[in-house]
Amino acid sequence: MSAGAPLFGLHQTRNAAQTVALGARLAHTLRPGAFVALEGELGAGKTQFVRGLAQGLGLRTDTVSSPTFVIVNEYDRAADTGGARCPLVHVDAYRLGGAEDLDALGWERLIDGSAVLAVEWPGRIAGRLPARRIEVVIEHAGGDTRRIRITRVGEAPAPCRTCGAELPVGAEGPFCSSRCRMADLGKWMSGAYTISRELKDADLDEG
Ligand code: ADP
Ligand code: MG
Repeated sequence: MSAGAPLFGLHQTRNAAQTVALGARLAHTLRPGAFVALEGELGAGKTQFVRGLAQGLGLRTDTVSSPTFVIVNEYDRAADTGGARCPLVHVDAYRLGGAEDLDALGWERLIDGSAVLAVEWPGRIAGRLPARRIEVVIEHAGGDTRRIRITRVGEAPAPCRTCGAELPVGAEGPFCSSRCRMADLGKWMSGAYTISRELKDADLDEG
């Protein structure tokens, strides 16, 4: 696998494990609320990639499978290796008649921003895809080789107001992390209490 290659761009994997590893790598950049749309024909490896997302979020992966009859699977059990970063909601829209069917699944609750969302067959729910999302397109390239393109769709947010770093997908902004949010708050607080000139006796005489 192209281990050192930029995450956003074209990759090639030679087996399922490498596709899982790539999914895990993407997951490390995701925040709750991130939306990952996975395209590719049956057997391309979309579900393997989602297994990687779960792994990268620190979730148990043994139950990640194509939700063939269950259209939505929610994974929230942390892996034995430590705490999970956030839950993962895995939707296979293959059997959906259309976007209207999403309402019966409680779509509004699913996209409330508390989990990472991964959707296979996003074309089935085209009208409901968030403007800002990540697209993963997986193609067969002979045998077990797959070409996987990861792209960002939608306008990139302004960089973090504190450190200037690019915002992780799913981050609310204008800060990249709660740490940078607190740092900004700290600056604001100290700024608010700065005395802009020396106190004079007159200041104290009032009243
Ligand atoms: P999809 O969800 O796209 O229908 P799955 O992830 O369920 O596909 O299945 C992909 C199948 O292809 C699995 O059986 C997996 O072991 C196999 N496979 C072989 N090579 C790869 C690869 N490079 N990446 C992902 N899966 C692969
Ligand atoms: Mg699948």
